[in-house]
Amino acid sequence: MTLSIADQNKLDAFWSYCVKNQYFNIGYPESADFDYTLLERFMRFSINNCGDWSEYCNYLLNSFEFEKEVMEYFADLFKIPFEDSWGYVTNGGTEGNMFGCYLGREIFPDGTLYYSKDTHYSVAKIVKLLRIKSQVVESLPNGEVDYDDLMKKIADDKEQHPIIFANIGTTVRGAIDNIATIQERLRQAGFKREDYYLHADAALSGMILPFVDNPQPFTFAEGIDSIGVSGHKMIGSPIPCGIVVAKRKNVDMISVEIDYISAHDKTITGSRNGHTPMMMWQAIKSHSLQDWQRRITHSLEMAQYAVDRLQKAGINAWRNKNSITVVFPCPSEAVWKKHCLATSGEVAHLITTAHHLDSQKIDELIDDVIADSKSKAA
Ligand SMILES: *Cc1c(COP(=O)(O)O)cnc(C)c1O
Repeated sequence: MTLSIADQNKLDAFWSYCVKNQYFNIGYPESADFDYTLLERFMRFSINNCGDWSEYCNYLLNSFEFEKEVMEYFADLFKIPFEDSWGYVTNGGTEGNMFGCYLGREIFPDGTLYYSKDTHYSVAKIVKLLRIKSQVVESLPNGEVDYDDLMKKIADDKEQHPIIFANIGTTVRGAIDNIATIQERLRQAGFKREDYYLHADAALSGMILPFVDNPQPFTFAEGIDSIGVSGHKMIGSPIPCGIVVAKRKNVDMISVEIDYISAHDKTITGSRNGHTPMMMWQAIKSHSLQDWQRRITHSLEMAQYAVDRLQKAGINAWRNKNSITVVFPCPSEAVWKKHCLATSGEVAHLITTAHHLDSQKIDELIDDVIADSKSKAA
């Protein structure tokens, strides 16, 4: 089990590369300030959570007990009684979205899925895989769904059972679709609550909104049927993962029995990562409510700091309420490449994740953006 010198050197070089670049991601929402060293000793075990954590499983090396506590935590955070909920630790936000769309489609097999132009690219893939009828809805300039266009498209389609894909924090502009407005508009159009399905894509903001003073509506208490969050974004994790929570009565519709593991399966994949539920468990057990509040307040303050600095220099920077995504006009290629910024059309953004404890990285970027805008003006 030894490696050649050349292969060891290759690993060493990659180690140095990772150390050097671990905080590169000012354009991406992955937190880098996690510490799961307590869990490193479990890396020698093939932990596999295939199936449902709430049932007995013949595969003994599972971390179901940890996953259960993670799901209790998120049921509480997203305001659904634990016994009425079911969910699991996914591979990431995309799988959670697919799970939500899958439930919506099973409930309304002929329903159309509505999602805005600002929706994450993964939804187009999900729509194809699940073969759901779908409609892309216009967005407002801040990235929120255009409510008038949403209602117009539902009416034009004569859709009786819309499946609404709501963004709780869009990828590019951090915009939050107002699910209260959507539901009010549906009610005015004659829809009853049982006529539609509402999924919340809360990949990043699902771990922000529970900890701010004035959150936009996003919980089960406020009308959602399911929600997906990424574990490797605000929480932080060395392995991509996520959490999905849905209503138990809806999930029961898709459960299948598997004699091979003597359990039921409701999840999308077969074998499931058993390590990531332990990481999510450690993250929630080692952070109090106040810890998350401090962390998120700091990120929001850094975002406002970036907006203020850029605006002071005459650059049209802005952010949505409760968002750590700062949007500004796309700088020259040299600048966005140097800082690994994500760009989209006319705009770029920076995301003030929690590992930017001081403003150094943010300042370096802002200095370059300001210099770039001055040299363009000259
Ligand atoms: C990142 C993101 C996703 C996808 O999440 P993954 O964890 O990368 O699968 C989905 N929706 C939004 C809004 C995102 O920002």
